[in-house]
Amino acid sequence: MSEPAYRNPWHTQAAVVTAIRAETPGVATFELAWVDAKSKPRVPAKPGQFNMLYMPGVGETAISLSGDALHSDLLLHTIRKVGNVTGAMFRLSVGATLGVRGPFGSAWPIDECVGADLVLVCGGIGLAPMRSLVNQLIRRRSEFGEVHLLIGARTPRDLLYRNEYSRWKAGGINVQTTVDRAESTWTGNIGVVTLLLERLNRFKPAGASLMTCGPEVMMMYTIQMAISRGFERRRMWVSLERNMNCAVGTCGHCQFGPHFVCKDGPVLRFDLIEALLEVKDL
Ligand SMILES: Cc1cc2nc3c(=O)[nH]c(=O)nc-3n(C[C@H](O)[C@H](O)[C@H](O)COP(=O)(O)OP(=O)(O)OC[C@H]3O[C@@H](n4cnc5c(N)ncnc54)[C@H](O)[C@@H]3O)c2cc1C
Repeated sequence: MSEPAYRNPWHTQAAVVTAIRAETPGVATFELAWVDAKSKPRVPAKPGQFNMLYMPGVGETAISLSGDALHSDLLLHTIRKVGNVTGAMFRLSVGATLGVRGPFGSAWPIDECVGADLVLVCGGIGLAPMRSLVNQLIRRRSEFGEVHLLIGARTPRDLLYRNEYSRWKAGGINVQTTVDRAESTWTGNIGVVTLLLERLNRFKPAGASLMTCGPEVMMMYTIQMAISRGFERRRMWVSLERNMNCAVGTCGHCQFGPHFVCKDGPVLRFDLIEALLEVKDL
């Protein structure tokens, strides 16, 4: 069995905020550095994994790694302010410290997709756990067929990482965007992200792989559209952002049938959890 990336899964390590970048309304990327270099995980985090971020006196929450942990010691977390913990993080300034446990969970199955066409579909903050995947795919671009990244957002102002799209395109990724509601200056697509999947013509469905992250309803419509386009159920993966506590499959908070989203997920193969997706959060 491979060694876990962390030394002690319960041990929270201190990290210092080295930069805070505003991304879209209510969303910011926090750049963190370990206070003690020995806190660095033994094995770098893989795209799709998450950390538990701890605000002393407030609580702890799961946040995906959105940076390039394989090539940098800095941790990047893109966070939407929704509640207690994320609200407290948004009151931090550069130089403040917080706690980090991880990395935890499953990763996007990059190696299983070598040789295939790839379609990545995300909505809103769902692009955060895909950014590190996109960067890896660019590094390993010759190993894959067509790579399409379909991004949906509420409005143009809600499109995450907009200044990175030209670099991703130059790296061989077909980036397409769409918004639910446009402003007068927007000349791009309008409509749900599944429309982009419906119109996609530069891919071979046989053997093609699909990975999706975003609101569950969006992922379900994406999967339905993908099935109608000829994707196989065992070639599709979803990233589930269910509520979780311990992150190591002990507390049962995120138990989803026989699966623990924290330990077996968040990235799960669709055919293995299809029936369970009907179940709402407990
Ligand atoms: C594996 C995993 C990875 C995640 N990665 C990220 C990430 O990269 N970035 C990120 O911003 N979040 C991410 N999340 C979601 C994040 O963990 C939750 O938003 C978390 O609840 C925030 O904690 P809080 O204490 O601020 O809010 P809470 O106090 O837990 O929530 C406050 C209120 O907001 C509601 N709420 C919670 N989440 C959302 C939401 N997403 N949208 C709207 N309302 C919501 C709750 O129902 C509650 O009513 C991830 C979750 C998981 C499980």
